[in-house]
Amino acid sequence: MLPTFRCADSASLGDIPSIPPLEDGACSIPTLDVGFLRRSLLAWYAQQGRSLPWRETRDPYAIWISEVMLQQTQVKTVIPYYHRWLEQFPTVTALAQADQQQVLKVWQGLGYYARARRLHQAAQQLLERHQGQFPSSFDAVMALAGIGQTTAGGILSAAFNLPYPILDGNVKRVLARLCAIQEPPNRRLKQLWQVSSEVLDTQHPRDFNQALMDLGATVCTPKQPQCDRCPWQSVCQAYARNLQTQLPMSEPRNPIPHKQIGVAVIWNEQGQILIDRRRPEGLLGGMWEFPGGKIEPGETVEACIQREIQEELAIDIAVGDRLIVIDHAYSHFRVTLNVHHCSHLNGDPQPLECDEIRWVRPDELEQYPFPKANVQIIEAILATAIPARS
Ligand code: SF4
Repeated sequence: MLPTFRCADSASLGDIPSIPPLEDGACSIPTLDVGFLRRSLLAWYAQQGRSLPWRETRDPYAIWISEVMLQQTQVKTVIPYYHRWLEQFPTVTALAQADQQQVLKVWQGLGYYARARRLHQAAQQLLERHQGQFPSSFDAVMALAGIGQTTAGGILSAAFNLPYPILDGNVKRVLARLCAIQEPPNRRLKQLWQVSSEVLDTQHPRDFNQALMDLGATVCTPKQPQCDRCPWQSVCQAYARNLQTQLPMSEPRNPIPHKQIGVAVIWNEQGQILIDRRRPEGLLGGMWEFPGGKIEPGETVEACIQREIQEELAIDIAVGDRLIVIDHAYSHFRVTLNVHHCSHLNGDPQPLECDEIRWVRPDELEQYPFPKANVQIIEAILATAIPARS
């Protein structure tokens, strides 16, 4: 369904509209001059827009990959991953036919690994349903794994120049300020989608959406918006009321839970280390890791590691020296990994709480996809343990 458009398009760029009276939380875009909003933003974008690799292509596959990578990650982090991904999987078919472990390995370090698993799944859907071609129908795009309304709008506008709105984090912030919405944006999503539809330049949806994202990323930034550089300053409701640093309002946050984890680097007599692959679901699903688990109240790190390894792998180990302690923050919790060298004593390891286990040499560890925090464990093993054990 195409977005509705019901605002007048009458002002020239030099014809600055006045700010209409506004009640708290009201959204006044229908009374603003969207013609001014469009022309001023596109003129700014022509001068100030960022040069980004995915803007140099019209290939919907490449644009889709960039959109998904950008969902939770900053542009400067995404760029090298984007290039590596397209070298490794240059087409939908190449991605669909790849092994999931290969896909997770290329994604390693970007976090939110469900995104990589869903890209892989959606590539297989594209092969089955569309002969490997990316569709230009909104409903067909929305039916693919891992694609929501803003990702669909981003792909369809950037790849096919179709007039679909977007509402990512940057755009929510800009529009919430433009309209001086005095509630957290996620409580006003319907209105924000409506505003994004109304301001969208239906003649230039590709450039307009890209411009809106750039405005949020470079000018209307979260902490210190640079309103003196903003093409919308003259009509911005937040600026007019000096609310630009107070908006958008944030949701009240609960304290972030902090988990203490005991982790085992288990060696056998052949100098190999035991690693396990997590079950496919969840935050780190399908990734490899060193076994371990949460330290219970009153439990020592050593006792925790012994218990967890018995429960997860049904083997006896001796817990030895501490290798490293790592603090790592995820979006909704923090962990401290207390990592110890361990020696295998008895029993054949069983994958009781994981998908697969393997004994590997230290120099083979880098072949497997590991979460970021575990990569530090590998570095510590390679830096300290090998010389001591060789
Ligand atoms: S004037 Fe300031 S607050 Fe308003 S949209 Fe521009 S940068 Fe954001």
